[in-house]
Amino acid sequence: MKVIVVGSSHGGYEAVRGIISEAPDTEIQWYEKGDFISFLSCGMQLYLEGVVKNVNDVRYETAGHARSQGVSVFVRQEVTALDPGEHTVTVHNLDDDSTRSEHYDKLVLSVGAVPAPLPVPGADLANVYAMRGRDWAIRLKAKTVDPTVQNVAVIGAGYIGVEAAEVFAKAGKHVTLIDVLPRALQLYLDEEFTDTLTQTMREHGIYPAMGQGVKQFTGTDGQVSGVETDAGTYPADLVIISAGIKPATNWLKGVVDLDTRGLIDVDAHQQTSVPDVYAVGDATLVPFAPTDGMARIALATVARRQGRTAAKNILGQPMTMPAVSGASALSVFDYHFASTGLKEGTADQFGVKTQSIFVTDTVRPQFVPDAAGNAKVAFKLTYDPATKRVLGAQIMSTRDVTANINAISLAVQGKMTLDDLAYADFFFQPGFDRPWNIINVATQAALLGKT
Ligand code: FAD
Repeated sequence: MKVIVVGSSHGGYEAVRGIISEAPDTEIQWYEKGDFISFLSCGMQLYLEGVVKNVNDVRYETAGHARSQGVSVFVRQEVTALDPGEHTVTVHNLDDDSTRSEHYDKLVLSVGAVPAPLPVPGADLANVYAMRGRDWAIRLKAKTVDPTVQNVAVIGAGYIGVEAAEVFAKAGKHVTLIDVLPRALQLYLDEEFTDTLTQTMREHGIYPAMGQGVKQFTGTDGQVSGVETDAGTYPADLVIISAGIKPATNWLKGVVDLDTRGLIDVDAHQQTSVPDVYAVGDATLVPFAPTDGMARIALATVARRQGRTAAKNILGQPMTMPAVSGASALSVFDYHFASTGLKEGTADQFGVKTQSIFVTDTVRPQFVPDAAGNAKVAFKLTYDPATKRVLGAQIMSTRDVTANINAISLAVQGKMTLDDLAYADFFFQPGFDRPWNIINVATQAALLGKT
């Protein structure tokens, strides 16, 4: 069997690994249009802040290692067309500009997404950047130490924008974080959490310009010098746009079924509308456990699970993509937060009625001093008021208590209720936790009708 995998990021990597680990004799051709395979944008902040020194280390896999496992790796080769009837793809070699046709028995598309451009005047000025992939990582790194860059404007206050803002604030730049939404990280956390994080960003030199739409970028000599919004004007020697992504699926229009946003329709086995063609990652929708529907969740965790699902099905081992709840975590200066599933701020867009309980506590018993690891923790649990089914949660502390959110993800996936969690058995040792874990505390309070 000959399998062609398009795209070398999380989804493509997992599909290749999933196949090769179980069926090492499979003929695999792995295509990447960039000049580097398997760069992890997830690790970009660690590189930009100098924790990881070499940009080439921010990856899962090397071409040499994959080749040693029998995989044919092609970089700077773009797959530009698909002929389902013939079971072929067209490959464009970007080095010598040649094209050729390659036959497949099974095809996996993990073409992902590209940063969505901002359709405003000045977006083509020099020093208007994005934050995704190795090339941008290298260019951004140079700007962190460029003395001519004093003012940085980040457009989009989701987790990528907040990562960018933190990187440049730590590099000593004046940072303005701009978003059309009223709160930073609004799609990840409710107000109880974002208020604290916004305050901490302010204290670290990031100016949050929230609730403002960008009207244009202004420039001098072809180079960006400022951002004009509908509420103000901000100086900027560098602009980083992190205002969403769009799927890299133009070339698939009219060949595989796409939705209006260009996302590839897949079934529970990651199969597209075309026989023997699978799709995974940011260019697809995913089953969303809290609503039992589909959702757009652009996370590496999702791409990896979809990649494995596609691999299993290609190998004739029927596997259904498990529903996910979109768990994610991030540090913002001294704070660590994580969230999963529905929040009050996002429930409406799914048409789901929710209720929430918000509690604060200390991570460890009160006699444990802060210097020994104690700190406040804030936790919010969201549930269905009619059935008491757990639908999501958010947690934040200056201590790393984010793993609690994985327990909530399991609860969401397993359709557990407040009653299931109220007295659930979690470990206690004063060096780690309290006898009633924050999940017990919150669910017990919710059952008493508190909010
Ligand atoms: P992509 O990562 O979009 O990669 C697609 C690849 O396919 C690219 O290399 C592209 O060049 C190649 N390609 C596309 N079309 C073709 C073609 N026609 N021919 C050949 N090659 C092609 N997720 C997390 O879970 N945790 C995190 O901490 C996290 N942090 C992130 C931080 C940043 C800054 C960013 C940008 C993203 C982060 N993500 C994180 C999200 C995660 O990176 C994405 O969900 C994931 O990369 C999606 O993988 P993918 O395989 O769908 O495609």
